[in-house]
This record gives sequence, structure tokens and C-alpha cells, in this order.
Amino acid sequence: MKTVVDDAVVTLRRDFSEADRVIELLTCRHGRVSAFAAKAKSSQKRFAGGIELGSWLKVWLRPRAYGLWRLEKVEVMDGFPQLRKSLEATAKAMYALELCREICQEGEPMGGIFSLLMRLMKNLQQAPAAVAPLIKFELAMLSYAGWSPRLHSCERCHAQVLGQSVMASLPEGVICMSCSTQAKEQLVLSKETLEVFWGLQRQSKLKQLPNERQILEMRLFLDKLWFFHLGKELKARAFMDEIAT
Ligand SMILES: [Zn+2]
Repeated sequence: MKTVVDDAVVTLRRDFSEADRVIELLTCRHGRVSAFAAKAKSSQKRFAGGIELGSWLKVWLRPRAYGLWRLEKVEVMDGFPQLRKSLEATAKAMYALELCREICQEGEPMGGIFSLLMRLMKNLQQAPAAVAPLIKFELAMLSYAGWSPRLHSCERCHAQVLGQSVMASLPEGVICMSCSTQAKEQLVLSKETLEVFWGLQRQSKLKQLPNERQILEMRLFLDKLWFFHLGKELKARAFMDEIAT
């Protein structure tokens, strides 16, 4: 098979032998790819700039019908060096990458997700403490996976709920307070939180940054939703908590 050139981000790196590595990549057009990089540790010519977790690379890949692809060479587009200096930004980036690894499949193009992921990395590099970019990215990932929660109307009576406080009703979305007596979930989203959340889901620019309470409510909602769909808590999610405490 012919060599293909694609944009990719490194999600996992394993030593294969003394000199060789197995690299897991999320590629823009070929989805998730595991590739064998011969002499990855020593070849300055083919792997100049290194293959670091989270780096944005241009990759030359030779597909294989079975087993690992071959990573022939890379060119570093952006290694996000500033991001790596902040533990908080690194934890968030690792979490976003782990989400992508869970959702993206081999041979399935990432579509707009790849550029959103690169934008997130740039945002984290500039503002490690910012929370909205990660939540925005998670909402885009949910949409990509076909799991978008419905935030603007009640799941039961279909009434519009923007401008009101609501109860989370996972995994579908939210329910209005009139319907909430039967709710299994006990998580309340205040009307202010709902408005911010809805704005982030539409990928709009926020007029003001979410406050601590809004962040907490959105975070709880997303954590519960991911747990429902993935059936587990991601390792990088626990790491994010460790950094925060
Ligand atoms: Zn209702």
C-alpha cells in the first residue's frame, strides 16, 4: 500500500525494543492508528523534533491490511512546549486525548474534531487554568459520538427550559422542575449554568467566564454522562482531580 500523509496527534508511545517504538496516533483522515516506528529513538533525520505525547505532527504512514502501520517519518507542526510547563494544562490535555482514544476508531476520519483538539491544545497553552475550552471540547466530542445531551428542552414534556433551573436526566439531557419528581438523577443545573452550558454546546463565545458553581455543575454533569457512555472513569480524569487538590 502507498504511503499516506496526514496530520496526527500522538496519544500513546511504547518502547518496542531498544531502538524501536510503537506509536498510537489520532490522524485527521484515517482515525486512530497504531504504527511501528523503526529506530524511532535514534533517527534524527526521520523523527526530528521527537514524538512527544500530545504533539501535532505531519506523519508519513504506510498502511498495512493487518497489524501495525509503519510510521516512516514525521514533521513536528506544533509540540506545544509551553503547555508542557503547566501540570494543570498537561492534565487537561491528557484527559482530552484519552477521550479521543475512547471515541475515535481506526479508519474513521475525525472530521472537525481534529482541528478542535488542536485549538484546545493552543488554548490550554495560553491559559492553563481556563475551564471553558475543555468543556466546549467535551461537548463537541459528545456530538461527534452521537451522544449530545439535549439542554434546551425538557426530556419528558418537551417544554423549553432555557431561563429556568433544571434537573439532569442522563443520558438524554435535562428535565424541567415540574417533571422532576420522577427524576432518578439528583443533579440540579441552575438557570445560569444551563445558559452557559447551552452556549458552550453551540460552540459560541461566552460573554463572561463561568463561575465556580457553574463549572462544578457542568463538570458533574459531564462526568456522569461520560461514565454512562464509557462505563468507566478515565485515568486522566482522576489525574485532573489530583492536580486540582
Ligand atoms: Zn418537563
